[in-house]
Amino acid sequence: MTTPAPLTALSARGEVAVIGLGRSGGAAARLLARVGVPVYASDAGSGAAAMEAAAALTAEGIAAEAGRHDLERIRRARTVVVSPGVPPSAPALEAARAGGALVLSEIEVALRALPGVPYVGITGTNGKTTVTALIAHLLRALGHETVEAGNIGTPLSEVALAGRRPAWVVVELSSFQLHDTPSVAPQVAVLTNLAPDHLDRYATLEEYYGDKMLLFRNAGPASVRVVNGDDAEVMRRTASLAGIARRFALADSDADATYDANREMLTLAGSALLERTLLPLLGAHNIANALAAALAVWHAVPGDQTTAGRARIAAGLRGFKAIAHRLEPLGERDGVLWVNDSKATNIGAARVALEAMTRPTILLLGGRHKGEPYTALLDALRGRAKAVLAYGESAERIAHDLGAHVAVERLGSSFEQVIARARALAAPGDAVLLAPACSSYDMFRNYEERGATFRRLALGE
Ligand code: ADP
Repeated sequence: MTTPAPLTALSARGEVAVIGLGRSGGAAARLLARVGVPVYASDAGSGAAAMEAAAALTAEGIAAEAGRHDLERIRRARTVVVSPGVPPSAPALEAARAGGALVLSEIEVALRALPGVPYVGITGTNGKTTVTALIAHLLRALGHETVEAGNIGTPLSEVALAGRRPAWVVVELSSFQLHDTPSVAPQVAVLTNLAPDHLDRYATLEEYYGDKMLLFRNAGPASVRVVNGDDAEVMRRTASLAGIARRFALADSDADATYDANREMLTLAGSALLERTLLPLLGAHNIANALAAALAVWHAVPGDQTTAGRARIAAGLRGFKAIAHRLEPLGERDGVLWVNDSKATNIGAARVALEAMTRPTILLLGGRHKGEPYTALLDALRGRAKAVLAYGESAERIAHDLGAHVAVERLGSSFEQVIARARALAAPGDAVLLAPACSSYDMFRNYEERGATFRRLALGE
């Protein structure tokens, strides 16, 4: 395992500028300060949360401010820690890069504070959070104290701050985090899939995929990777990496974890693991997610490669519940099933959500456009979609891309009206699916608020 440089070594480089005072920025600032590294933490936002975060850090003796960045001070810093939410074009980050600073993610700071703690690292375009949660759940089912961290919610720096060293950490890593995490070297590295996304933040697809591949930047002969055998792009890019490759695949019976469609059985390392009907998740993509997680756990803890271990993994999968906003069945009203997939913020995710639907479906599509054409949904729409309701900023583009092929209704930016229209169109036996293929920022604070609003309006709660 690559051991990262200790956190204290950063103090030799002078003051560290922490940009962004969200949960992860605050935790990284505290971690650095705790080991004696001088810190200046700032956030351009002047909302209540940022102001409170700055006040709390100041009260702890850490230099912090919200509402402005001292760009001169940031320019002088030789090390800059950036929160995942800060776009590369943010003036503070540009100032730092212009000054030639070493830019590190909050994850990197945390890894340097957690030397020797074993972790599984997960990246990919879609399914990261689901696979991260599944792996943590399965490690617990095997009796190992485990925390999940990173993009999934709890910043890794908070895990490090807590001081308790769990047996395992399962870390969800975005491409943005991987970009600035030179020490990343998980015991098991999982790549779920690669598909176009984030073209609003990356100049080219190549750059985006390149950042994803940084999960393997320190791979050596003993490194284990779990990769998607059904994904040609993943297989092409990982083929010549050092280390041990394990594949999960729905469409390849030779893979290390696979699905036997005839028997409707998930299999692991050549033997039956779990019947499909016992996996409480919708859609073929979730079978792939379950296979990825089972395979990662199997290789993370070789001591559990036993009959008892297999049974515990199977029991863990059976007991797993769909995560909120991820193809989450909310329930039926008047015979109509409402499904919340607010997290489907790109075309690939919306496509698999549609493919998981077994009822005639009214699809809610819209929000802030992210750069991909909606025509890539056409195959999945045919035969499934009763209607597409296009709303929000991207409504016109959606209608333009799909209107000639499926029934598209263009609506405005009132989510109440979108839901009311869906309710009017849906007949008993239908489903209404929110899988917007766009970000939520034109109408909501985030995808969670969008999903929660959908739930409230759909169920009349
Ligand atoms: P991420 O953390 O990568 O965004 P999530 O687990 O939160 O992934 O799922 C986001 C959305 O992506 C889900 O709502 C679902 O529609 C879709 N999705 C989940 N798993 C997969 C997969 N293996 N392949 C393609 N799409 C997926």
